[in-house]
Amino acid sequence: MNPNLINQDHSNLGRSTSEYQALDAAHHIHPFSDTAALNTHGSRVIVRGEGLYLYDSDGHKIFDAMSGLWCVNIGYGRRELADAAYQQMLELPFYNTFFKTTHPPVVELSSLLAQISPDGFNHVFYTNSGSEGNDTIIRMVRHYWATLGQPKKKTIISRINGYHGSTIGGASLGGMHYMHEQGDLPIPGIAHIEQPWWFANGGELSPKEYGLKAARALEDKILELGVENVAAFIGEPVQGAGGIIIPPSTYWPEIQRICDHYGILLIADEVICGFGRTGSWFGSEHYGIRPHLMTIAKGLSSGYIPIGGVLIHDKVANVLIAGGDFNHGFTYSGHPVACAVAVANIHILQNEKIIERMNQDVAPYAAQLWHDAFDAHPLVDDVRSLGFFFAVTLVEDKASRKRFSNGSEMALRCRDICLKNKLIMRATGDSMIAAPPLIMSRAQAAEFVALALKCVDEYAREIGR
Ligand SMILES: *Cc1c(COP(=O)(O)O)cnc(C)c1O
Repeated sequence: MNPNLINQDHSNLGRSTSEYQALDAAHHIHPFSDTAALNTHGSRVIVRGEGLYLYDSDGHKIFDAMSGLWCVNIGYGRRELADAAYQQMLELPFYNTFFKTTHPPVVELSSLLAQISPDGFNHVFYTNSGSEGNDTIIRMVRHYWATLGQPKKKTIISRINGYHGSTIGGASLGGMHYMHEQGDLPIPGIAHIEQPWWFANGGELSPKEYGLKAARALEDKILELGVENVAAFIGEPVQGAGGIIIPPSTYWPEIQRICDHYGILLIADEVICGFGRTGSWFGSEHYGIRPHLMTIAKGLSSGYIPIGGVLIHDKVANVLIAGGDFNHGFTYSGHPVACAVAVANIHILQNEKIIERMNQDVAPYAAQLWHDAFDAHPLVDDVRSLGFFFAVTLVEDKASRKRFSNGSEMALRCRDICLKNKLIMRATGDSMIAAPPLIMSRAQAAEFVALALKCVDEYAREIGR
């Protein structure tokens, strides 16, 4: 046993790293992974987290600049959430919400969500994940239009390189071609338009001009499909898994105008943006978007327990409520333990003013450091940040905006250098991206940016630049 191992008496069952890796390789198929390739190296074994640091089974301390998977907004190791789960499990570990029944945690969470959501959002439907939230939305918007006597309005328009989860519905809404390739996706009734990424698609247009052009792809698609067939548009306020794509300022107002003009529903997938990531409670508030439905998950419980849902604007809720049975739900919709944990999480965000502090103090400070480190760096371009989103795109030649033909390989090399330096960032296409916990302090922001720069410099040397 490694004497540096933290917490070895409880979270680690006493196995060595290599034992964990061997058993993992023998029995565990990982999500979004090439299992054979993974097993030849062995998985990293993470045993503990505290604040924004993780500890692996060899005792190394790692800076988690990805908040787990975009979710641990309040940081690791908050006892209040553990206590909430423990108390709730003793009191009432499970009861369903199907059969004319409710329970205290689901009531508390629902009213709390209504309180923190934008005006007009007074109802919530619960799921266990963001994917289930988006599947729920597909069923909900079709049911909505059918209830209004327009059953043909079924098609949902979304975007190339958007991410909406990995169920059949979620992956279909998403615009990831490598997901569509497996299993004949998308399902019928989903259409994709381009993503608003100026650096990749803007050409000679200014970002503002390009934002309008990208938004008008929605109008073109509505006219092509016929507005009588279009139910809704869905988008992440800022695309997360697609590589932290921050749209030009003109994009969302134009999308809003088009949705209003054609009377289609506007859906914000807030699974990453929700609960503070952009510096506002919801990404929709940051951009002034007025959605009808918002998907939530991840930061809702800071990832401490699976829970997701759909926040429903009165305009849709009133139709649903008047529309009779909605034949949809999950055994664990509104699970009492998950709801209790989510309540504790939101209370921490509120009481400690985590989002306000981040938005007013650390985010502008960290953004300055990020731009100072990378704006003039010859190997990266499209240096971008918003709230606690940070990204750069690796380039072959900055002057001509030339990207690598094997950009994702290059980014994976850079990512591996980060891991070697005990910094978790993610490689997405040819971008390097980060989304640290919202509790990051100024000193930790400086540590993060210095580490990221060190890694990009090391990558530059490794590729001989
Ligand atoms: C992660 C994510 C999802 C899917 O959530 P799961 O909990 O993994 O099912 C959906 N939408 C967005 C924007 C996400 O980032």
